[in-house]
Amino acid sequence: QAKASGKNCYHFYNREMNLKANQRLDLELDLRQALELNQLKLYYQPIVNARNLALVGCEVLLRWDHPDRGLVSPAQFIPIAEETGLIVPIGEWVLKQACLQAQAWRSAGCDLTFISVNISANQLRGRSLVDLVRTALDDSGLDPGVLELELTEGSLLPNPLVARDVLDEIREMGVRLVADDFGTGYSSLSYLKIFRFDKIKIDLQFVRDMLDDAGDAAIAKATIAMAHAFQAKVVAEGVETQEQVDELIACGCDQLQGYLFARPEPADPFQQRLRKRIGSEH
Ligand code: C2E
Ligand code: MG
Ligand code: MG
Ligand code: MG
Repeated sequence: QAKASGKNCYHFYNREMNLKANQRLDLELDLRQALELNQLKLYYQPIVNARNLALVGCEVLLRWDHPDRGLVSPAQFIPIAEETGLIVPIGEWVLKQACLQAQAWRSAGCDLTFISVNISANQLRGRSLVDLVRTALDDSGLDPGVLELELTEGSLLPNPLVARDVLDEIREMGVRLVADDFGTGYSSLSYLKIFRFDKIKIDLQFVRDMLDDAGDAAIAKATIAMAHAFQAKVVAEGVETQEQVDELIACGCDQLQGYLFARPEPADPFQQRLRKRIGSEH
């Protein structure tokens, strides 16, 4: 009997695996055409100054508007894009598009201090990121000081020496570098020294639980103190409650990002937000 059920289990497991693999293959085939078919969209999530809660910048977050599936989350398709190498043309499009959009807003008189773009591991394989950043800045006319690149440990540590050279060159252009999802990996403190980030993002998992979990609160506080010791700014992501805001401000956090302020939104509503800002200041 045990044998029979074992066999069934195996059978079931196999079918599940096939289903998953097929779904993945479907997504992969669709993703190959997503760029050409204009299904990829940039969303923008506001980031505010912790001192006065004024809008200062935004993070660019990719969305896939799939004809049958609706909006597909980047958590679902970025890993596929990375494994297939599709992230290279997609990432190129994201960076160029983001720079054009930021420059359009600034030319229209909107006061946007920075725009932050996520960079994946594959984009750091060779030296091509340097050329891509230069082209995106040249083509758009965007002030390099407005552009920030978000990097995770996972993208820097496989080949830290190459990554450091590439990032040093990009920093020399005047672009700022941000450590994303900080605290979730295994990096040592020398990670901060080697890559000389201008800004560090406290991962949302620590922000979420910092009021109930002493360990998460300690990580958030230590991250802020450490970032400041390295002359870096700190942004907390995933801020959803006023209590979190109060605690983060008390700890000296510089910038805040999260659903409490706004969800990621398309270019038009974000531009409305920037315009309202101009009005409220005069
Ligand atoms: P990330 O870079 O850490 O982005 C932050 C994520 O937290 C975003 O998820 C954002 O929508 C979400 N978030 C912001 N505020 C809150 C909040 O208050 N509560 C909660 N629960 N979540 C919040 P999203 O947009 O689903 O993106 C997921 C991940 O996909 C990103 O994590 C990033 O790693 C990746 N990603 C997104 N766009 C791009 C892109 O253009 N290129 C690359 N390489 N990766 C991207
Ligand atoms: Mg990010
Ligand atoms: Mg993050
Ligand atoms: Mg994340």
